[in-house]
Amino acid sequence: MSSLKSILIDEIKANGPMPLNAYMHRALADPEHGYYMQRRPFGRPDLDGGDFITAPEVSQMFGELLGAWMADLWDRMGRPTPFCLAELGPGRGTLMADMLRATTALPEFADAAQVHFVETSDNLREQQRAAVPHAHWHDKVIDLPPLPCLLIANEFFDALPIAQYRKTDTGWIEAMVTTDGTDLAFTDTAAQDAPFSEALLACLPETLASGDIVETCPTAEAAMQDLARHMKTHGGAALIIDYGHAEPACGDSFQALAQHKMVDPLAAPGEADLTAHVNFPLLAHIAERHGLRSAAIAEQGTFLEALGLNLRAQALMQASPGREKEINAERLRLAAPQQMGRLFKVLGVAQKDMPPLAGFY
Ligand code: SAH
Repeated sequence: MSSLKSILIDEIKANGPMPLNAYMHRALADPEHGYYMQRRPFGRPDLDGGDFITAPEVSQMFGELLGAWMADLWDRMGRPTPFCLAELGPGRGTLMADMLRATTALPEFADAAQVHFVETSDNLREQQRAAVPHAHWHDKVIDLPPLPCLLIANEFFDALPIAQYRKTDTGWIEAMVTTDGTDLAFTDTAAQDAPFSEALLACLPETLASGDIVETCPTAEAAMQDLARHMKTHGGAALIIDYGHAEPACGDSFQALAQHKMVDPLAAPGEADLTAHVNFPLLAHIAERHGLRSAAIAEQGTFLEALGLNLRAQALMQASPGREKEINAERLRLAAPQQMGRLFKVLGVAQKDMPPLAGFY
């Protein structure tokens, strides 16, 4: 049994069932046993193990195109110097390293950029330092410096803890984690008053039936609020890329991945990656309520193709004979509708004075 599992079982025996978001928080971010604190989550099954693979780890093209997006926007916004080039949850630092490498043709961009990472895991901070030695690290979005900011967050919001509520004929019940003494199991309890924020209430489907599940993510709402306040005051834009829904939706999206397979999310806390779908309409709503402009929510495939994915793949193939099949497979993995192209969405938000954001039709 994982040591975190036995710790949680003892806590539940002493204090009673814990809400799902408390469980998810401990499983991912417990300072000693949390998944992101301990493990090396990312990797290809064929190369270096790992539990899942994210877009920047699939292909260098992802970071290169996003680097060009950032440099183009920085140029069109009048080349603010210095500015903050920020990333939330940078994982191994691959995305930022690829973005910076892709922009070396515009040295003024790299000279003006101060790279800032928001990351809680010391273990991952070390890996990020190896990839981007001159970055600055912070625990929270509010710690970013008072500068115009171009920010990216890839698969950050899906890692933030969710709570789950189910509608019943007599009110809302909340998903809890309990134990029989040996294993963890789901149970539920009557929800406390007003479990939904005003912002979430504005983004729920129009009608909800008995049995419908609504997921909340207060940490995501808080991070988006902090980001929007920062950008309204200091200027800038953010790209949020993740898997999730572009329209108001409900349902259970809590899942666990270990070694590239779906596993039981309660079986071994701290040893599997836990995620939930990102509520994009809610993030867009919060940004707008705080005075930002939000672009339409694009699908990742369409967005990357608008930035020149196919041309970049062709150029790489010409430069690396013998790797054509591999590069084409990476291109499809990122953009094909049945792979990451449709499930993953891109939300762009910007301060109202910013020029239009590229890639959104
Ligand atoms: N963006 C990377 C990694 C995604 S995994 C990629 O695409 O490969 C999620 C990342 O968010 C990890 O770096 C994790 O440690 C970090 N993270 C999770 N919760 C966080 C929180 N509350 N604050 C800051 N970073 C967090």
